[in-house]
Amino acid sequence: MKTNRILSLLLITLLGLGGAVAQAADQLVVYSARNEQLIKPLFDAYRAETGTEIRFVTDKAGPLLARLKAEGKNTPADLLITVDAGNLWKAAQDGMLAKVDSRTLQQNIPVSLRDPDNRWFGLSVRARTIVYSTARVKPSELSTYEALGDKQGKGRLCLRTSKKVYNQSLVAMMIAQLGEEKTEAIVRAWVGNLATDVFANDTAVMEAIMAGQCDVGIVNTYYFGRLQKKNPKLPLALFWPNQQDRGVHVNVSGAGVTRYAKHKAAAVKFLEWLSGDKAQRLFADANMEYPANPKVKPHPNVSAWGDFKQDTTNLAKAGELQVKAVMLMDRSGYK
Ligand code: FE
Repeated sequence: MKTNRILSLLLITLLGLGGAVAQAADQLVVYSARNEQLIKPLFDAYRAETGTEIRFVTDKAGPLLARLKAEGKNTPADLLITVDAGNLWKAAQDGMLAKVDSRTLQQNIPVSLRDPDNRWFGLSVRARTIVYSTARVKPSELSTYEALGDKQGKGRLCLRTSKKVYNQSLVAMMIAQLGEEKTEAIVRAWVGNLATDVFANDTAVMEAIMAGQCDVGIVNTYYFGRLQKKNPKLPLALFWPNQQDRGVHVNVSGAGVTRYAKHKAAAVKFLEWLSGDKAQRLFADANMEYPANPKVKPHPNVSAWGDFKQDTTNLAKAGELQVKAVMLMDRSGYK
């Protein structure tokens, strides 16, 4: 009994010391706007591989960014994971992210999917593309985002609200490519073709198409993937627009090391690991996205949607032109 107690005391002391050492070198705190179910498997895999303990907080992008700002130098966060380049750009613009000079990240992540100043890096790619009713639309009737505003599309279009950053980024990237005047004409034409009020989310857009309320819409590919998983005979299909010119609008979920990270070197190491083969597959497949690292193949269910040319304008533009995009949508009557 007594020996047992001494032994367990010794064990506790040893564990305690081990814990203290681990805490100094191998602990990370992540703020994530990506759901727990999508990121937890990555944290577990990284811990299994390196011993690094990762604590995390998940919330929506807005509150997380506000929290980072309010905490300032005292923030426990080492890494910020969030969705949409618009949000990543905002975090960098607000001075919340540190520059990371890493050859690994520069090699693994294409230029268009990362900050030109190396403060954030895309880790998974989603296309925001056209979805259509296979019962009522022939793919030959479709061509570009612009053409969704054509006369023959009157009363056939469903859109998600312009309040969502995904649409703000889409329009911002159109401004980057086409200029404000042309983009405004396109957005006005979309609004003129709307079958009904805008929807709160992408899934509702697809459900409206299935219900016959409209024939075409614009959605992120992974939402289509989720519906397709539930119903393999979905009466919807994805269409890749603008293949003759700028390509399909893509966006990312991504990450950056925080400006006041207490474990900066460990955070960079983790970020580099996230851009590598194994993590890229975990990161993308969990949400039916495309790996940002072009050397890593997408999940077969995702590849099955077909190859497409993507717009390779740097996604920082989605942030830079976000205010212009919001104002443009507002004056075009896009709610
Ligand atoms: Fe989403």
